[in-house]
Amino acid sequence: MSTEKEPIPAASNFIRAIIEKDLADNKYAGKHWAGSPGGAAHQSTGQVDFAKIRTRFPPEPNGYLHIGHAKSIFLNFGLARDYDGVCHLRFDDTNPEKESQEYVDSISDMVHWLGFGWDNTTPDGKPESNLYFASNYFDFMYLAAEALIQHGHAYVDEQSAEDMRINRGTLTEPGKDSPFRNRSAEENLRVFREMRDGKHADGSMVLRAKIDMASPNINMRDPAIYRIRRAHHHNTGDDWCIYPMYTFAHPIEDALEQITHSICTLEFEDQRPFYDWLMARLVEAGLLSNPVPYQYEFARLNLTYVVLSKRKLIQLVEEKHVSGWDDPRLPTLAGARRRGYTPEGFKLFTDRIGVSKADSWIEYSILEDCMRDVLNESAPRKIGVLDPIKLMIDNYPEGQDEDCYAPNHPQKPELGKRVVKLSKELWIEREDFMEEPSKGYFRLFPGNMVRLRYGYVVKCIGCEKDAAGNVTTVHCEYLPDTKSGTPGADSVKVKGNIHWVSAAHAYTAEIRLYDRLFKDPHPGSGDKDFLDDINPGSVKVITAQLEQSAQQANPGDSYQFERHGYFVADRKDSVSGKPVFNRTVTLRDAWQKA
Ligand code: ATP
Ligand code: MG
Repeated sequence: MSTEKEPIPAASNFIRAIIEKDLADNKYAGKHWAGSPGGAAHQSTGQVDFAKIRTRFPPEPNGYLHIGHAKSIFLNFGLARDYDGVCHLRFDDTNPEKESQEYVDSISDMVHWLGFGWDNTTPDGKPESNLYFASNYFDFMYLAAEALIQHGHAYVDEQSAEDMRINRGTLTEPGKDSPFRNRSAEENLRVFREMRDGKHADGSMVLRAKIDMASPNINMRDPAIYRIRRAHHHNTGDDWCIYPMYTFAHPIEDALEQITHSICTLEFEDQRPFYDWLMARLVEAGLLSNPVPYQYEFARLNLTYVVLSKRKLIQLVEEKHVSGWDDPRLPTLAGARRRGYTPEGFKLFTDRIGVSKADSWIEYSILEDCMRDVLNESAPRKIGVLDPIKLMIDNYPEGQDEDCYAPNHPQKPELGKRVVKLSKELWIEREDFMEEPSKGYFRLFPGNMVRLRYGYVVKCIGCEKDAAGNVTTVHCEYLPDTKSGTPGADSVKVKGNIHWVSAAHAYTAEIRLYDRLFKDPHPGSGDKDFLDDINPGSVKVITAQLEQSAQQANPGDSYQFERHGYFVADRKDSVSGKPVFNRTVTLRDAWQKA
């Protein structure tokens, strides 16, 4: 069934080259990263002597992980694994309103599922957990903000949000200094402490870095670094009514965790000057010491036929266009797992697409191909009839059955064979019979012979129809000397070969035929609402006839149903002895022509 494919060369990953050079230059060996006040990172040793690289995956716990995150996970955890370094799982939980424990749990679960963990060992052999929460650094962040104020690098701005926006300027015009920009350090400190102590209303003022209102990079025009927000935090409760802005918090998190390569997506490229500015100021202030982390940007994953925006994913779930966060049609990792996508398939995918600095769109079919390639290797074969009609072997004795032997994996004889029962009454696919065959049709039609795969050659002798003219039963006669695996098997040559399941031995199962959730490669492109691009045929629930052994499938077991594709026993709706199957992917890409 599988078609020969051009081998795809290993895609390039420019970050590997950087790391290899850093390691060759011994950039980290012998350097002692100072333990930092408030930085919980390496309390056990106080300082870390690293020849190692340290990366991090920093999700905000405000949604479920999706396929784009898988790229980042394989990149960060994968580099650490390949170069004998360490990758941190860090929850970037500085934005309390949208964050919750539910998201923390599901994110942890999915990183594990992809094959990565955060329990490591220090160079001197001690166990070390590399699970972090940015909110554990709030004390340090606050101190860092005060230090900036004391060194004249930050001020409290009381302009209205509207004035601040106007005075920020545009891409072509410089900004204007705030009237509050030249307050004394003492005054700034006093007001900032009042902000912390809850003396001012939400949104009435912010702390801003004092850099350059005329910078060509708008991110350097005195970015806000602290805001007042009376919000309950999932970790720090009501301890704080001011919260650091992401752009301020993130570099500090990296520094406290002694990250060597801080890898993020391209939209942060314009933030890098601020990242470096902040590191330099905090080193000057004595709060951090060199070497400090450095940020590298790579192109985020954009996949055709998929939306990866958190806002849109939330909308799909909340408006019930899908059944939940783990709906098998969603690009969430929870959905992909239920769909039968595998961690190995995601690894292959991320290897194939590589890591570059140029934004591009990746065809969804590449992801599907990776899943096919992995499942083709790993998935045992089963027989399933998805659109069943009866086939009667008129000359087969009533009440008799016999064993036929089907290989569990055609390319892996070592996996052996299993018994499939043959009897007088079988299920076959509706499309494997045509009363009036079209040209080139080699399957069942009156007078023609085909092989029942792993069984006998049969000759079609006619059919029965219902009142509406639909075929209900096909009749045939078998040639007793032609059983597969016997000397007579090749005595009759036939062009067609069809699969079947014995009706008396079949397992009648619910199967969900999933397809792409969107029918447009760029959902919502132009002026369209992305919801209008939902594929109305993205799921079809059918009743199929499967070979008996499929009934023993455990939730999460994947199979190839011969001639149809890869299917997985659903991990949510299957009950013991009654698995329900989800189609993971068809054997071939049906969208190419469309
Ligand atoms: P937002 O920040 O808008 O809430 P996000 O998708 O960036 O959404 P984060 O939780 O911040 O979500 O993402 C965690 C990490 O995953 C970040 O380092 C981010 O760069 C990376 N990431 C997110 N989306 C993609 C993507 N499509 N391709 C590659 N990496 C991604
Ligand atoms: Mg983000």
